[in-house]
Amino acid sequence: MKILVINAGSSSLKYQFMDSVTGDVYAKGLCERIGIDGRLTHKVPGRDNVTRDIAMPTHGEAIQAVLDIMVDAQYGVIKSVDEIEAVGHRVLHGGMAFTESCIIDDACIAAIEKCIPLGPLHNPANLMGIRACQKIMPNTKQVAVFDTAFHMTMPAKAYTYAIPYEYYEKDDVRRYGFHGTSHRFVSARAIDMLGNPEHSRIVCCHLGNGSSLSACVDGKCVDTTMGLGPLAGVPMGTRCGDIDATILEYLMGRYGYDIKEMLNILNKKSGVLGISGVSSDFRDLEKAAAEGNERAELALDKFRYEVCKSIGAYVAAMGGVDAIVFTAGVGENDAGLRAALCQQLGYLGITIDAEKNSQRGKELEISAADSKVKVFVIPTNEELMIAMDTAALVEGK
Ligand code: ADP
Repeated sequence: MKILVINAGSSSLKYQFMDSVTGDVYAKGLCERIGIDGRLTHKVPGRDNVTRDIAMPTHGEAIQAVLDIMVDAQYGVIKSVDEIEAVGHRVLHGGMAFTESCIIDDACIAAIEKCIPLGPLHNPANLMGIRACQKIMPNTKQVAVFDTAFHMTMPAKAYTYAIPYEYYEKDDVRRYGFHGTSHRFVSARAIDMLGNPEHSRIVCCHLGNGSSLSACVDGKCVDTTMGLGPLAGVPMGTRCGDIDATILEYLMGRYGYDIKEMLNILNKKSGVLGISGVSSDFRDLEKAAAEGNERAELALDKFRYEVCKSIGAYVAAMGGVDAIVFTAGVGENDAGLRAALCQQLGYLGITIDAEKNSQRGKELEISAADSKVKVFVIPTNEELMIAMDTAALVEGK
């Protein structure tokens, strides 16, 4: 099926028009500066990129611009918008309402709206994307795929916070986890690469700008590092990861920050950027560290340390591990980081094949033949997962 996958943010909208069976991407692109002025960048494999300034006061104009370029005589890939068989939307927070993807109808929209307090930055933007598509393509079926859904199989001991229980009962405060579509995709691929055993224990490390790890037993998530929101877990590009809540009170008192300013610091100025003062990009950090920048080295050291600790925690939680998976921008591309992590994990009997670890851009087993645990690099493909879910639901499978 030919599916348009939409990932709507507050001022941007990413799209990919793809085949849900083969994974072939016909076109993809990005609308930026929605609500400010508007710019569309459209890419068709094998052709030059097109960039156009187009007024985008709302997500409606952005979606219209995507559809217009898709049928454009020169840059388009289809003759008519009718060739888009269905639309799949990435939605950040599905709260407790969504354990899987769903066809978008009034009830689904109402439930996504109810999750806005849990995902105040993303859910409203996701809804704007959904509503714009409904208006412009009223006869095309749409599906919502949630970042949280895969993690809903966690047991209570993993998702419960040790705060008064009424906040869970009355206010839905619990661990939800994010990057679920990626964790689902790579854990399923890893099970396949393990030869589809009856029992499997996998640690998935989604290491990108935002990073999270998950523990998956028999294909189901049993724990993950992110929490109620995506600020928790390991340190990230600009997000702090797990910290002591006392720090908030202490800094807010010392500097007079309100909670918005404090959270802005923890979301945008922390993580490896905050420690290094250099960059949130691991390539910049590695360059700076190689040139002797000690804080860049400390930021990398902290990141590796916390990822290793989380892997160790999940091995303990699962009572062992059969495979460790690296994915996303850093996990897929940073061979040096993978080698360093695997060396630290040597106590698990892990050894890697340096030659295999140096390859890029494809699914790889990088563990050596005698390694007690398999180590895989699996390029994530959240868009394909969204397209597959969308096709399955629309076809009624
Ligand atoms: P996002 O969370 O925005 O989807 P990605 O998964 O695309 O992020 O990861 C982006 C990050 O990947 C960049 O910030 C950069 O730090 C990292 N990255 C990309 N290529 C490399 C590389 N060759 N070596 C180290 N890090 C890389």
